[in-house]
Amino acid sequence: MKSAVESQSYDVIIIGGGPAGTCSAAILAEYGHRVLVLEREKFPRYHIGESLIPFTFQALERIGMIPKMKGSAFVKKYSVTFVQPDGKRSQPFYFFNRYDRETVAQTWQVLRSEFDQLMMDNAREKGAEVREETAVNGTIMEGDRVVGVVATDKAGRTYEVRAPITLDCTGKEAFTSNRNGWRMTDPYLNKVAVWTYYKDSKRGIGIDEGDTTVAFVPDKGWFWHIPQHNGMTSVGIVAEGKYLAREGVRDPKTMFNREVEANDWIKDRLSSGECTGNYHITSEYSRHSKYCAAPGLLLVGDALAFLDPVFSSGVMIALKSGHLAGEAVHAGLVAGDLSPASFTQYGAYIRQGVENMRKLVYAFYNPDFSFREVIKRYPEAGGQITDCLSGDVNKDFSELWSHIREFVPLPDDLPYGAPMPSASRTGVALGQDRAANELAYAGVAD
Ligand SMILES: Cc1cc2nc3c(=O)[nH]c(=O)nc-3n(C[C@H](O)[C@H](O)[C@H](O)COP(=O)(O)OP(=O)(O)OC[C@H]3O[C@@H](n4cnc5c(N)ncnc54)[C@H](O)[C@@H]3O)c2cc1C
Repeated sequence: MKSAVESQSYDVIIIGGGPAGTCSAAILAEYGHRVLVLEREKFPRYHIGESLIPFTFQALERIGMIPKMKGSAFVKKYSVTFVQPDGKRSQPFYFFNRYDRETVAQTWQVLRSEFDQLMMDNAREKGAEVREETAVNGTIMEGDRVVGVVATDKAGRTYEVRAPITLDCTGKEAFTSNRNGWRMTDPYLNKVAVWTYYKDSKRGIGIDEGDTTVAFVPDKGWFWHIPQHNGMTSVGIVAEGKYLAREGVRDPKTMFNREVEANDWIKDRLSSGECTGNYHITSEYSRHSKYCAAPGLLLVGDALAFLDPVFSSGVMIALKSGHLAGEAVHAGLVAGDLSPASFTQYGAYIRQGVENMRKLVYAFYNPDFSFREVIKRYPEAGGQITDCLSGDVNKDFSELWSHIREFVPLPDDLPYGAPMPSASRTGVALGQDRAANELAYAGVAD
């Protein structure tokens, strides 16, 4: 049976209440725009992505989150350390060797259920309306323009909301990117992650308590070791799926424990702790949206691009893009220009950051690459690598890349992330054949 359709209107609709969505929402609501965030889950909800990097600071500061972060129980993070397969640890890459210790250089290891709740509360405080347990299941099209969304709430009530611009902040679901066929996988970064949590396992002390450790699995992948508050530690392995599933193993617990047994450093860290018993698995997660914007639509956070998590760049990109999207949409609303072309700079800036980080990720996965060897030959590369690991990714790293290319090849930039060219140039309009399907799917079309 068809639901009755009521229609509401806002200045901005944001699909998804993760860090990208709530960052944009806070900025736009603070400017006085009428902002509606539609979030499928009831918060607090579990989410992976717990290690922040320093260049989350600017966005968190912009939306007034720094005092809340300082008042939280989140463990302070000052560094990243790498452990070789033989157990040899690198010196920690301390962020304060490059940045101000009291601000950017200190970041946090968060529990996402708590962090995302703080972000959502913050957006509400700034004036955004957030509706939880409300799933968006379609976009509304007028010609080639997105003019709103169709949503269904917990009670099963389906309704339309309209706005001159919709932000897709749906994370890995990449709602509009998937539906428009824009989702591009990364040719090489095609891994599987398996992870769990330990209570009271070993960790560093003092400023090293919150150190993220990346422990190499010879030629195959790496473990993350992320100490959190309440004595919890997040531990996971990332590797090729066929390696983790060798000899017919399908159960994440068996995959995880087999790798722990083979890694002395991780085994030692976990030896005194107790596993919570929940194992998570995810696969094939590096991807890029072909376009960042289309008429009435802007993509933000993971919905725009997501890179292999080895350098914990996901929340930084979500917050940075959320921040920039908020400013760019505000400027567009004021100027009366929300054309895709008005988001050209936004798309280029985020893409520059993703491509810089992506080069370092590719180098990392090459067995012939070693941070130590690069820094031995080019001592100044150490600082540049720390910058990239900190998320200071919007600058010229050409010198670093030319040094690294002496050891391993690096990928060319992917041709993605610009706004969609206008239909008059391509002959293809957004949603030409999709709008009717989406409304039918949502149960509101004739
Ligand atoms: C194994 C792994 C480890 C990671 N480790 C790290 C790390 O250590 N550090 C780090 O910074 N990042 C890490 N990440 C990445 C991080 O999880 C993401 O980059 C980050 O959560 C992106 O934020 P977002 O706001 O774009 O999306 P999300 O945080 O995923 O938020 C999207 C929201 O949209 C909602 N939603 C989706 N579809 C709909 C819909 N149709 N209607 C309504 N709501 C919808 C979802 O419920 C969700 O709440 C990791 C990722 C993986 C896979």
